[in-house]
Amino acid sequence: MAKPRISFHDFTCCEGCQLQVLACEDELLDILGAVDIVQFREAIDNREWECEVAFIEGAFSRESDRERLQKIRAGAKLVVSLGACATTGGLNVLKNYRGIEKSMKTVYGDKASWYETSPVQPIHEIIKVDAMIHGCPIPKQEFLEVVKSVLNGRKPQIPDFPVCVECKLRENVCLYHKGQYCMGIVARAGCNAWCPSYGGRCYACRGLISDPNNQAAKDVLTEFGLTLPQVMDEFRLFNGVFEVAEPPKKTD
Ligand code: SF4
Ligand code: SF4
Ligand code: SF4
Repeated sequence: MAKPRISFHDFTCCEGCQLQVLACEDELLDILGAVDIVQFREAIDNREWECEVAFIEGAFSRESDRERLQKIRAGAKLVVSLGACATTGGLNVLKNYRGIEKSMKTVYGDKASWYETSPVQPIHEIIKVDAMIHGCPIPKQEFLEVVKSVLNGRKPQIPDFPVCVECKLRENVCLYHKGQYCMGIVARAGCNAWCPSYGGRCYACRGLISDPNNQAAKDVLTEFGLTLPQVMDEFRLFNGVFEVAEPPKKTD
């Protein structure tokens, strides 16, 4: 029986999530035995488009990428977004807020007009996406869960509860009690409370849960003397796309 064909594609990003895939050393050999990888720029030279699953890393940030995205969609039975850049636009969305022209000048100086750019959008705003693997970078276990689910024809189990749940299970002292702000109250779990467990704040790199308890979140902020405007910059770091007013153009 023919093995399922999978492909990996990258757009605007640091390619750190593909490195996470390559870092699944222990499981990678099993995966490689079960699938045929038909495109993966970081690892092989092949360039085939027909496949069962296409993993897309990175954000949409220039019109000339639209055609390649449509080609991926047309060739793949399932499309999976890989990492925050693809699922929310990630840090790239800061460009939208800072102003496209200003950002281009900062990065490219007087050569800014040489380069093409457009407001950043997550991949599902451009083409239909069947599943998302969240995080910056993605947790390896979630990538493996999605690959196994897809190979076995079942729906992947992606957590839809806040990071606080995992943080409490790890018996961490809440950062609010140390005088810090943390977005774990509305951020999607699945990283095993990575950042708070090592003393860092959660910036919600895995996006927001589908039904955040906004009132409870506001109550926590109020209790600790914070207001929504004070935390918006940190919110925008990974989730600014949720504020973008202009409706996206979608093409299947
Ligand atoms: S989500 Fe983070 S690690 Fe992954 S490609 Fe984007 S910036 Fe890199
Ligand atoms: S440190 Fe953050 S993730 Fe942990 S319990 Fe407090 S708010 Fe939640
Ligand atoms: S704790 Fe928050 S910022 Fe850190 S990896 Fe998890 S979701 Fe991302």
